[in-house]
Amino acid sequence: MRILIVEDERKTGAYLRKGLTEAGYIVDWVEDGISGQHQAESEDYDLLILDVMLPGQDGWALLRNLRRTRRTPVMFLTARDDVGDRVKGLELGADDYLAKPLDFVELTARVKSILRRGQPRDSNTLRVSDLELDLTRRKAIRQGDTILLTAKEFALLWLLMRRAGEILPRAIIASQVWDMNFDSDTNVVDSAIRRLRSKVDDAYEPTLIHTVRGMGYVLEVRDSEE
Ligand code: CA
Repeated sequence: MRILIVEDERKTGAYLRKGLTEAGYIVDWVEDGISGQHQAESEDYDLLILDVMLPGQDGWALLRNLRRTRRTPVMFLTARDDVGDRVKGLELGADDYLAKPLDFVELTARVKSILRRGQPRDSNTLRVSDLELDLTRRKAIRQGDTILLTAKEFALLWLLMRRAGEILPRAIIASQVWDMNFDSDTNVVDSAIRRLRSKVDDAYEPTLIHTVRGMGYVLEVRDSEE
């Protein structure tokens, strides 16, 4: 598995390269947006890890240009508190994002999860059972009904669908969607899940968003409930 890192911050780049190399990946690292695009277009990578602010051209421009010819999965590095950046990356066709400062355990888990998906999706829609999430228009569609979502509901559903089948602890959801710390009050997660369910689950079968007692939430189709 080959990974290209485009990051001008030497410390972060070196840290990523070292960690991912130790995890068994073949890693290339370039430090500006122009070399990044050139490298990504001339070699076959399984994953690109892209910083946003880069010399030459920024990560957004790189991704936009790359998507004309390549569907290589892209993971953005974003500031921890910038939900706007995440949504923008997603709209441009990024597959995931990772908040800086980097947590290496989380990084390798997310890298594995992206690589496990294999060939990236070629549309701007996520689908689980009869629930679709339109990533461009930021709305859900279920059984032909268009469901409008607030920005937070969208971010929450995107997370649940992107990692469908995975039990997500409240603390993870809180940090991914609200950038809250692990010890923050996670009631906000429960109420957001409740609102999301009332929109995408209550009027439909099968139920997709499940509470896993003592652990968190998972979005999946469960056979017993079909
Ligand atoms: Ca940078």
